[in-house]
Amino acid sequence: METFDVAIVGAGPAGSTCAAFCSLAGLRTLVLDRETFPREKVCGDCLNPSSWPILDRLDLVQRVRTLPHAKLGSVEFIAISGRRVIIDLPSGEESEIAIKRSLFDMLLMSRARELGTQVYEETTVTALTSSNGWTIETARGATFAARTLVGADGRNSTVARLCNLLPRPARERVALQAHIPLPPGFGDRIVLQFLSEGYSGQAPVNHDELNLCLVSHPSKLPALRHWAEKQFGLQQDHQWHTITPLTRAALAPARDKLFLVGDAARVVEPFTGEGIYYALRSGELAAGAILKIIRGKDRQSALREFVNAHAEMYRGRLWINRLARAAVLWPHVGSLFVHAARFHPMILRLLTRKIVLPEMTNNERRSR
Ligand SMILES: Cc1cc2nc3c(=O)[nH]c(=O)nc-3n(C[C@H](O)[C@H](O)[C@H](O)COP(=O)(O)OP(=O)(O)OC[C@H]3O[C@@H](n4cnc5c(N)ncnc54)[C@H](O)[C@@H]3O)c2cc1C
Repeated sequence: METFDVAIVGAGPAGSTCAAFCSLAGLRTLVLDRETFPREKVCGDCLNPSSWPILDRLDLVQRVRTLPHAKLGSVEFIAISGRRVIIDLPSGEESEIAIKRSLFDMLLMSRARELGTQVYEETTVTALTSSNGWTIETARGATFAARTLVGADGRNSTVARLCNLLPRPARERVALQAHIPLPPGFGDRIVLQFLSEGYSGQAPVNHDELNLCLVSHPSKLPALRHWAEKQFGLQQDHQWHTITPLTRAALAPARDKLFLVGDAARVVEPFTGEGIYYALRSGELAAGAILKIIRGKDRQSALREFVNAHAEMYRGRLWINRLARAAVLWPHVGSLFVHAARFHPMILRLLTRKIVLPEMTNNERRSR
């Protein structure tokens, strides 16, 4: 049996990015995903501009831009009362876009393949054994061997669960997501709407479709769904994608021969639309650390550097995400914030700017 340098479970943005950078550096890289691509995924489909430098390092910027997408010009916050505040988003090269995950994730996975990664779709990981390296078993009875394992398998990470790291699932909020026909005149805005049952995010993803997300506690979900059916003229049997939890404890992103990247390591509140960026960047950082270890750098110091860089990625951004989580957990409080922002829009403008235009690291600046 071939032993891979690195096996990655999950071909979402975190796993495919990690794989692409590993393959770019010449590592024998394996990716296993339970889905057949292209596939949709519960997401608001908004791509934070911080992602561009990483996509650039994978030579993907032009290819992303040629896929159907929507350029987003503003974000509109709507309070429960219906009051609205509109904040402009950056334009030009640094603009935020929305793109369907079926297209975006497929492109990243194809890039990893092009660079030499072996990708197996419809391959669900079911068991792991660790001794010198890792033995990975799948639902179809195949077995793979690798020196390093990366869990990039999302918020309900099987890798973390099989390694007894995943916190017990709490009774948590649920998200519903669907692509629906774009309402006439919707424009190029993201809408973040507080509702007494939870919140809704809406963004155009191309000329014809709107991404519609609903987030709520299970008890209030039927009411929120009913609101969406009325608001957007949807049938009661409309098909939604669903996911839970929206929040869970963060896990250490590395230990010995195991790395966790993207949502598998830390889940952020989707309201600020940053999860894909964290997935891309943590995948890139993990690839760098794995490469150093395989090239002979002391494992412990490479792991320490990775853990520090992983924490650095969130520094200065996480508090805004926590603020957003508080606002959506108590939508009446979030709504008060929108009311206040009508008279003092500067605060919301600064927070939005901090999310969509965070300061780039020196490395990122150099690479542009
Ligand atoms: C409602 C909602 C809205 C959001 N909106 C945005 C947004 O607008 N912008 C943004 O940046 N982020 C958003 N996010 C967050 C974003 O979706 C995630 O942060 C991102 O998908 C994480 O990427 P990932 O690669 O870590 O995991 P995922 O994208 O979840 O990919 C994990 C992959 O692992 C595979 N997998 C799982 N288990 C196994 C197994 N046992 N064996 C093999 N494969 C397996 C899955 O099939 C999947 O392909 C949103 C999230 C939610 C819930």
